[in-house]
Amino acid sequence: MDKKLILGSHVGMSAPDYYIGSINEALSYGANTFMIYTGAPQNTRRLATEDMKAAEGIKYLKEKGIDVNHIVAHAPYIINLGNSVKPETYELAVTFLQDELQRVADFGIKMVVMHPGAHVGAGVEAGLTQIIEGLNTVLDNDKSGTIIALETMAGKGTEIGRTFEEIRAIIDGVHKKEQLGVCLDTCHINDAGYDVHDIDGILDEFDRIIGLEYLKVVHVNDSKNERGAGKDRHENIGFGTIGYETLMKYIYSPRLAHLPKILETPYVNGVPPYGHEIKMIKDKVWNPNLKVELGEN
Ligand code: FE
Ligand code: FE
Ligand code: ZN
Repeated sequence: MDKKLILGSHVGMSAPDYYIGSINEALSYGANTFMIYTGAPQNTRRLATEDMKAAEGIKYLKEKGIDVNHIVAHAPYIINLGNSVKPETYELAVTFLQDELQRVADFGIKMVVMHPGAHVGAGVEAGLTQIIEGLNTVLDNDKSGTIIALETMAGKGTEIGRTFEEIRAIIDGVHKKEQLGVCLDTCHINDAGYDVHDIDGILDEFDRIIGLEYLKVVHVNDSKNERGAGKDRHENIGFGTIGYETLMKYIYSPRLAHLPKILETPYVNGVPPYGHEIKMIKDKVWNPNLKVELGEN
């Protein structure tokens, strides 16, 4: 079994180097995995994957010894399968997600993290029903085999996925369960009201309600908000309400050792903090000067 820490961060994917640039960015942070958006996170405009150095990148990953099985994609935020109020929003989500699964596969990537959706006022039940219908429509016709990892959410606005029970309800309704997974986000579960410090309690509850076999990726983020705030504002490692010690428990937990850990912490003073954060994770020493070193005054 691979005991090596699988650690990386969100990285960019922009012209002119695209996927090659993403890989180089991850390597510059000392990471051995990473997460990309296959285009801008806030819109659905997408370039053809062959023009984003997909094939070149797959070769380059091999050269650099990065296991493509550990790389993660993230669907754009505006995709909302839970919208039962505006049919065009839902239909866009279905069409986009269908294409996205194949796009992700073109990069050699095996899974895409997705926010389950928001019920936009129609209520949790209506939202769940719509999400399940959307996932079944997409997966029943899918040929890519890409796994959709439903992210645990903070519960901001009308977001669905604030509880493990909601995630379970979605899984229960989907036919192709083998193409579903879950992404556990430490900031989100804290903001949703879970006691993030009790990692064994969290993982036991996750196992009981969802099943740990569904857990595919961990987003390691500190939080700017108190437990239960329902806010979803990420903070740099050790600078928030969760703290370095607790986040390190997730990163080094033997129960999570086989899973990629992805940082989505905020830029500091316009600078990505990931190289510094990965260093303080590997060195096992928190760097209280991180923000000062990155130029914040
Ligand atoms: Fe997310
Ligand atoms: Fe996340
Ligand atoms: Zn978030």
